[in-house]
Amino acid sequence: MIHIQSLNFAYRNGEFGLSIPAFDVTQGEKVAVIGPSGSGKTTLLNLIAGILTPDTGSIQVNKISVSELNDAARRDFRITHVGFVFQDFELLDYLNVKDNILHPYRITGALKLEKGVHARVAQLANRMGMADKLRRRADDLSQGEKQRAAICRALLPYPKLILADEATGNLDPRNKAHILDLLFEAVDEHQATLLAVTHDHELLPRFDRVVDFQDFRSG
Ligand code: ADP
Ligand code: MG
Repeated sequence: MIHIQSLNFAYRNGEFGLSIPAFDVTQGEKVAVIGPSGSGKTTLLNLIAGILTPDTGSIQVNKISVSELNDAARRDFRITHVGFVFQDFELLDYLNVKDNILHPYRITGALKLEKGVHARVAQLANRMGMADKLRRRADDLSQGEKQRAAICRALLPYPKLILADEATGNLDPRNKAHILDLLFEAVDEHQATLLAVTHDHELLPRFDRVVDFQDFRSG
């Protein structure tokens, strides 16, 4: 599902670089990514999602060469193939929860806002314990509620690849396990693939594989 080869990337200020000779994730795999803060975990997720582009090397997701698409195609690729739970959620504060969850459908023709989608919003919100918060503005949510809203938004289009950047980070232990259950359920139901950055070492045994990020660092 993810196939990375000879990847090199550096931010323009030149202070941080990632070098990944090879990294593969097979379809249906649940992979945890660990590593200290600042080691480039978020950078890698952004590269896989096509938010950043590598300087050299190739990134394929679902056989699509993400690194070779133009900007518009990369955006459509991301919206249709990738469910991204951002570390800082990236909710739109002035929209309510439901409109945030539906937002990807409203900004691209690549997703169709059919009738069944609304029913699925209700179902997802219910599973996430957010059913009674759909009309609440995003800036009136707690951190944990924002996180759950962001997860609903990421899962709504049945993405084949779920990238979760510390998606359990702001939750209490019981909710952590619960959120992971829900992410895993979504992955299993749709034969999706999960790459999840986490600092919760007690959750690691539940993943198929753990990738330690320090191995990728290039200076
Ligand atoms: P992690 O998610 O593992 O904490 P990040 O991928 O967010 O790490 O960041 C890796 C390094 O890249 C850090 O040193 C960070 O300061 C730097 N960095 C992140 N974003 C940018 C950016 N837009 N421009 C320059 N440097 C950045
Ligand atoms: Mg990060």
